[in-house]
Amino acid sequence: MPGLLDGKSALVTGAGSGIGRATALAFAREGAWVAAADLKLEAAQETARMVEAAGGQAVAIEVDVTDDAAVAAMVQAAVKAFGGLDCAFNNAGIAPYQVNAAGQKIADVAPEAWQQLLDVNLTGVWRCLRHEVAQMRTQGGGAIVNTASVAGLVGLPSSSAYVASKHGVVGLTRTAAADHAEENIRVNAVCPGYIETPMTEDTMRRKGERILARVPMARMGRPEEIAEAVVWLCSDRASFVTGAAWTVDGGYSAV
Ligand code: NAP
Repeated sequence: MPGLLDGKSALVTGAGSGIGRATALAFAREGAWVAAADLKLEAAQETARMVEAAGGQAVAIEVDVTDDAAVAAMVQAAVKAFGGLDCAFNNAGIAPYQVNAAGQKIADVAPEAWQQLLDVNLTGVWRCLRHEVAQMRTQGGGAIVNTASVAGLVGLPSSSAYVASKHGVVGLTRTAAADHAEENIRVNAVCPGYIETPMTEDTMRRKGERILARVPMARMGRPEEIAEAVVWLCSDRASFVTGAAWTVDGGYSAV
């Protein structure tokens, strides 16, 4: 059976872990060549090895999405490896605990923590978008998916910087979709609920029961369940879908 992404090249940031790794594998399963980019080269290399072990083709790229020159180089490396860039998944992100802001209300969040979180989660997506769009417009189009969150649609207590960054990703996605529709570049966001990855381990240990009580499906999602949505949004099956913020959250944001 033909794959949804046969013959396409796809770039994934945050590909060394969680949702990014699962999506790199799903892209490859659907026939795409994968450029797996992450902050830690070894993590990206491990994903590339997993893709190849499953019969796909991948390159690993080291990138810090807070560094514009590194993001430009990442896009160039993907283009060099595969001759173009058809799909991009801008997924690298961090949680409040990674900037020492876990559980803090607005007045308690240090300006540096706010800045750092926004720099990775929101401006990082913008840096990726600008270089990817510049490449895609030279090839006549492409499809981009940004990782937002249910925290891009509703507020979450004690997570102001994260919530602001993810609302920003949703707004950026909608605007990028409008800006580049005529150039045949589709831009969508995926909004995961609580997903089993290293990012949520600590939160779930501390308050998993309370969180799951709010999820209609009463469980966490698996990274592979986000990957399926991303694959479809990147594929030609989604040819009339742009500017969408697609929830994959077990019903969390529906109630
Ligand atoms: P994860 O397992 O921690 O993966 C995130 C990856 O991004 C890690 O490999 C991380 O590298 C990398 N990264 C962090 N900062 C980076 C930077 N400056 N440049 C390049 N790569 C960087 O987390 P995940 O759960 O898969 O999260 C993926 C995305 O989904 C994030 O945007 C997150 O906000 C979003 N999300 C997650 C959930 C959830 O419940 N898990 C829910 C909604 C949205 P290091 O490990 O070296 O830091």
